[in-house]
Amino acid sequence: MKSLLKSAYQSYHALEVIFSSLRWFFLVIAIVVFTVQYVENPVYLKLNLFIALVVFGFIYMGTSDYYLHRSPKGSRMYRIMTKGGPFFDFIAFCALIPLTGGIDSPLFPVAYLILLHIAVYWRFVGGMIAAILFISIYTIIFFIQVSGVYSIKSLVLFLCQVFFLLLIGGLGGIIVSRERQHHTEKNVLAEAANRDYLTNLLNHRSFQENLRNDLEYGVNFYLVLADIDKFKSINDKYGHVMGDNVLRQIGKIVNSIIPEKQGKVFRYGGEEFAIIVYIYEQLEVNKLLVEIKQSVSNHIFVCEGEPFSVTMSFGSCKQNGENPGQLIEKVDKLLYEAKDRGRNQIVHSYVKV
Ligand code: GH3
Ligand code: MG
Ligand code: MG
Repeated sequence: MKSLLKSAYQSYHALEVIFSSLRWFFLVIAIVVFTVQYVENPVYLKLNLFIALVVFGFIYMGTSDYYLHRSPKGSRMYRIMTKGGPFFDFIAFCALIPLTGGIDSPLFPVAYLILLHIAVYWRFVGGMIAAILFISIYTIIFFIQVSGVYSIKSLVLFLCQVFFLLLIGGLGGIIVSRERQHHTEKNVLAEAANRDYLTNLLNHRSFQENLRNDLEYGVNFYLVLADIDKFKSINDKYGHVMGDNVLRQIGKIVNSIIPEKQGKVFRYGGEEFAIIVYIYEQLEVNKLLVEIKQSVSNHIFVCEGEPFSVTMSFGSCKQNGENPGQLIEKVDKLLYEAKDRGRNQIVHSYVKV
């Protein structure tokens, strides 16, 4: 239940699942309420209309559930059936209320639920427009039912309902807007906490988290550490601003070569990058690393008209049940072996490629 509520807070789909279950629940309640009232007073209640309404409810809810669970999210029918849900609910409501006691119907508070559902998608303006529509329907039913015999009690009831419909429509919209904004801000902050400001790659914190999770869940992967060769001399010769520029561009090159589903690229720190590659064949991993190594060394940087290029060294190793610290240390040794061997090369599990 807690996880359903949490996912309802985060996704429209989970919210729609809740509203769809509520519809089935209220259909059953409507049948019970109608049956009790019909047994007490069959003369004024229109059995045929109610049966038609229930049949309409079954067909609509069955179709809506089918598209909710079977069609791809974001497809046209999915959107019509989810976003359009409150419109169908409104039509059903207009028929249901006169059949279950009019202004005295115990099902009238369903209007508040429909208003909240509308506010989820159309916020304050949508909530207020919907509230006015509900007030219009309520007013029509009220005047037909009271038919000229007004009492203070009925007028107070009428005004209270109008007030509550406006309140729920408006406040619902404001609360939803506020919550969504808060949620968006939270996502922006979480994203900022996991990104490196200079290269926009995932940062060291994110790397440690990913590494720990992957090892904990026994995911098969290769860990690669890649370090720019003689980067200090780039800074010394062309300045730190140019050095930053080189780091940014190399980050882009590395990221563009690692396909999203096959790996993640992180800025490990300084001029060092970490790559987690979800490929199980050493040859395939090497192919990617060779492509990165060549793309980096082929890239021509220009500083004040002077062209220059840089190279990178790589250490790479398949995880073998080590803890994060042990694995990083193992790959770091491979990287330094690549440096010792003259740089601009890949050392993979003690086999030079
Ligand atoms: P090696 O081939 O052995 O890796 O030599 P190196 O010069 O690349 O390595 P070293 O560790 O001696 O120097 C790394 C340099 O990277 C030193 C530091 O100033 C520079 N550096 C680290 N982070 C940044 C950064 O964010 N921006 C810039 N411009 N330079 C950075
Ligand atoms: Mg270096
Ligand atoms: Mg370094």
